[in-house]
Amino acid sequence: MRLGIVSDIHGNLEALDAVLADLAKQSCDRVVCLGDFVGYGASPNECIERLRPLISGAVIGNHDAAAIGKLRLTYFNVDAAEAARWTDAQLTPEHRAYLLALPYRIQEEGALLVHASPTEPDGWHYVLSTADAGEEMKAYDDPVCFIGHSHVAGTFERSDTGLRYTRDSQMNLAPDRKYLVNVGSVGQPRDGDPRAAWVVWDRESGRLEHRRVGYDIEAAGRRIVSAGLPQFLADRLQWGE
Ligand code: ZN
Repeated sequence: MRLGIVSDIHGNLEALDAVLADLAKQSCDRVVCLGDFVGYGASPNECIERLRPLISGAVIGNHDAAAIGKLRLTYFNVDAAEAARWTDAQLTPEHRAYLLALPYRIQEEGALLVHASPTEPDGWHYVLSTADAGEEMKAYDDPVCFIGHSHVAGTFERSDTGLRYTRDSQMNLAPDRKYLVNVGSVGQPRDGDPRAAWVVWDRESGRLEHRRVGYDIEAAGRRIVSAGLPQFLADRLQWGE
């Protein structure tokens, strides 16, 4: 069973199409999405339309919740709030209803899937350190939990000797260890690598691969600026920050 996991697409159709082309070559049995379909990018409806028929499950992200009025914009920075209001005005009724019906957490193939953090899936906490991860890993008994939200791809691994963090792209998940895997972001990476990120996990062999895919960043940026969204949201795609 090979599971493809995408997250934080953020309305970036150019990045999503590049990931879907790569995904098609990876013979995944199923694909899931960890939320933030929309927000920041200029193609919210197109991204939902593209992804929805391909995925077997998805959870809601904070930007999805903000765009449909389920989360107040108080904690968003100026650009994120502006993008959320713009997305709110763009979403079709059908796509709004789709986002509204998404759960905060799902199980798939013995793994837990949430957008931000397993301790409080609707609290939108960031898991940025091994200290954070240690607390989060107490909140589930599953061997693996997949998250997004920080847009930084990497893996926390708990073994008898302690907890470590690695950004290795290829790993073998051991059955006697516990994992918290951040799959990174398709549409707005913030780990210094501007290429779109996604993950393939082979449940039986334990093989985990963080994949990166180049895409037409300038085209995505031009679409953001043409839509009247903040220039910064186009610029940051170039830096991957
Ligand atoms: Zn996000």
